[in-house]
Amino acid sequence: LAEKLQSTLGKLKGKGKLNEKDVKDAMREVKLALLEADVNFKVVKDFVNKVKERAVGQEVMESLTPGQHVIKIVNEELTALMGNVQSKISFSSKPPTIIMLVGLQGAGKTTTGGKLGGLLKKQGKKPLLVACDIYRPAAIKQLQVVGEKLDIPVFSMGDKEDPVNIAKAGISHAVKNNNDLVIIDTAGRLHIDEVLMDELKNIKAEVKPHEILLVVDSMTGQDAVNVAQSFNEALGIDGVILTKLDGDTRGGAALSVRSVTNKPIKFIGMGEKLEDLEPFHPDRMASRILGMGDVLSLIEKAEQAIDIKKAKELEAKIKKQEFDFEDFLTQMEQIKSLGPLNKIIEMIPGISGAKELKNIDFDDKEIVRIQAIIQSMTKKERKDPSILNASRRRRIAKGSGTTVQEVNRLVKQFEQTRKMMKQFGDLEKSMKKGGKFK
Ligand code: GDP
Ligand code: MG
Repeated sequence: LAEKLQSTLGKLKGKGKLNEKDVKDAMREVKLALLEADVNFKVVKDFVNKVKERAVGQEVMESLTPGQHVIKIVNEELTALMGNVQSKISFSSKPPTIIMLVGLQGAGKTTTGGKLGGLLKKQGKKPLLVACDIYRPAAIKQLQVVGEKLDIPVFSMGDKEDPVNIAKAGISHAVKNNNDLVIIDTAGRLHIDEVLMDELKNIKAEVKPHEILLVVDSMTGQDAVNVAQSFNEALGIDGVILTKLDGDTRGGAALSVRSVTNKPIKFIGMGEKLEDLEPFHPDRMASRILGMGDVLSLIEKAEQAIDIKKAKELEAKIKKQEFDFEDFLTQMEQIKSLGPLNKIIEMIPGISGAKELKNIDFDDKEIVRIQAIIQSMTKKERKDPSILNASRRRRIAKGSGTTVQEVNRLVKQFEQTRKMMKQFGDLEKSMKKGGKFK
């Protein structure tokens, strides 16, 4: 999924101007990519419509190209689809907090129970694992092995006792032993059936867990979502833990679970090892799917750093060909405030395609030297670089602690930039005419 979305949206990124057809075509490809990733059909439809609605007919932000703007919208909507904010465990003010893990056989309950205990133990909790799966051969042993590895106690009563009683006794045991967190590992079945649900309902009624977390295997795609829906209807769940995301290349379950069940994903399993469990962050997941973490944070920074009014003034100057070394200096400072330069240059709208600028080696030390050179110029020289003859250049080099060659190079770069900016200005003019996606 990530690859498909990245290539589709990558096509938009470099475009100066988008029309309705561009957006439509891109969204058709996004739609196909999502469906192929096994995202629920209705979720896809709603998602695509939302993005289209926002992208078409909206004024484009000054600091972004229309393509970047669409990417930004896609990213925001993906994040919203997965619940926007990180959803945490709510701990009871009256310990122990009781977490009940439910799910189908093989989903990862037992492993995840250990992982979760380990994670929360690191945060200062004193967990107790309770073995309520009395059906699967060696299930109790499996939990004991996990507990031993993590140095977390495991409560069990063998496989002859009723799971409801085991759960109840487990909680008394926790209270006696000062465990402020109880994680109940329950049995699963290959399919959802009434016997399983009844047992889970009975445990729920008896121990009143603070959190019922459904463990689902993300590799099963839409099936995972259907399972989540059934468990939620029958039992009522508080959240989802998606396991085996390390082996899931499609991402369909991660994208659909939340909007189908209206229950948040709280953790994700990222591997077989006991430390491979992470809190789920919708925004990070969206960025990961889009593979554009860098671009997106740059967009955010650009939004903050670029002063729209200053940009407008500059634009007017460019049009009148009045762009001078003073402006160059201001620009440099603004760009510098964004971060490492070479990364930024290619993302600046309209500039990414300019060969001339790509050839200029923008490193950060260079910037400091450029500033020194410009600061050694007189006001008049900054306004009108054409008066920079050999003796003036020697004086500037001396004053800035650089060489005449460096001064020469800067003047040449400046002239190239000025030429480029004029082209950029023309491009923008034509963009403004059709500045809306109509
Ligand atoms: P249960 O039947 O629901 O208790 O599932 P188990 O905890 O026994 O896990 C079933 C299998 O899935 C085991 O082999 C686990 O190692 C594996 N597993 C669980 N979570 C993950 C995960 O996040 N990534 C990977 N790769 N494997 C996992
Ligand atoms: Mg198990």
